[in-house]
Amino acid sequence: MTTALTAEHEAIRDAVREFAETEIEPVARDYDEPGVVQFPREIFQDAADLDFLAPHYPEEYGGAGMDFLASVIVHEEFNRADPGIGTAVLTGKFGTELLLEYGEDWQKDEFLRPVLEGEAVCGTSISEPDAGSDVAGMRTTAEKDGDEWVLNGSKTWASNSPVAEFMIVMAKTTPDAGHDGISAFIVPTETDGFEVGRDIEKMGLRASPTAEINISDARVPDDYLVGEEDRGFIQLMKFFNENRILVAANALGAAAGAFRHAFEYAHEREAFDQKIGEFQGLQWKLADMMTGIETARSTTYRAAGELMAGNDPRRLASIAKYYTSEVCEDVCSEAVQIHGGYGYTREFPVEKFYRDSRVQKIVEGTSEIQKNIIYDSLE
Ligand SMILES: Cc1cc2nc3c(=O)[nH]c(=O)nc-3n(C[C@H](O)[C@H](O)[C@H](O)COP(=O)(O)OP(=O)(O)OC[C@H]3O[C@@H](n4cnc5c(N)ncnc54)[C@H](O)[C@@H]3O)c2cc1C
Repeated sequence: MTTALTAEHEAIRDAVREFAETEIEPVARDYDEPGVVQFPREIFQDAADLDFLAPHYPEEYGGAGMDFLASVIVHEEFNRADPGIGTAVLTGKFGTELLLEYGEDWQKDEFLRPVLEGEAVCGTSISEPDAGSDVAGMRTTAEKDGDEWVLNGSKTWASNSPVAEFMIVMAKTTPDAGHDGISAFIVPTETDGFEVGRDIEKMGLRASPTAEINISDARVPDDYLVGEEDRGFIQLMKFFNENRILVAANALGAAAGAFRHAFEYAHEREAFDQKIGEFQGLQWKLADMMTGIETARSTTYRAAGELMAGNDPRRLASIAKYYTSEVCEDVCSEAVQIHGGYGYTREFPVEKFYRDSRVQKIVEGTSEIQKNIIYDSLE
């Protein structure tokens, strides 16, 4: 599958870059306060108006009917401007992938479309205090009671939950069946018994509020089940394939943004009567950084190509996510180094790139879990 960019892809990159540089980059620091619930709702709305939230979704549900690579480009460009707001805004639709693929038409109309139109924010709650990588170890349950589901349990790391209109909550419908007993539910955040806790203070990504959720006899109608009962884990696998490529795109964009700042600084700062960028030691650093970025880009686009071709992208999605997020950390760290002491201050954006994007090695399966998947795919 070729993943060469078309003129349409180049056009969307230009449009998204302009949007990101004018709407996201200038306010990056405004959304960097620890312990404050903040979500860039206006930028989310503006991005929705321009069909930037998920251009590969069908037009009837608020997308632009483009291919998946167009969405990869949006994730890249948003994060190139600022990985905090970039990731936060695009995470505002987290969970709509499941609705698009497995939801009933009425669920798409009532829950998916408002998100893509910028009128609602959602999230997906899988992780629990004692079960992160080990998804099947979750303990939250959903039991049928007449024409309702009754949910009980504790979730954590629920991105957007403090500001979301609804969450997709994964729960055990057959508790002893491991992976085969999990289902997905739409849960409006105002549901009685669904208590979103305080915002968790994080080292970065503060534009994206994250909280624990205590669920105590929270009732939703029986048709709020998404897809088939007990098939939630299988549904998540498709969701992970797609989202791992988009996380790779987030990391790729953050690396490209940190590189841009480092390159500019290297051509401004002087030491020993010359620009520091004239030292071969720095030129080689920048060459290594760009080699990582371009290799990561090839891997990410190739994984997107597999997905668009209808092939199983599991191995390549994990390689892209693992490799790109590791490259991102290295590039952001080197960008700080190239700035010397100034790189360690809030006067320059590179420390923020480092903090905000470090999470890409953890979310949607850690680097270690990606390596397990890659190895398993060899057998
Ligand atoms: C900012 C942020 C936002 C998040 N948003 C969401 C969200 O919206 N929804 C959601 O459901 N979750 C979310 N998460 C949770 C995230 O998906 C988990 O943190 C992640 O899956 C790891 O789980 P854990 O934190 O429980 O770590 P653990 O599973 O406890 O892992 C701890 C360490 O052990 C390693 N490890 C675990 N198992 C293995 C193994 N089999 N082989 C090798 N190493 C292993 C891990 O790689 C890691 O290094 C978010 C996390 C963060 C930090």
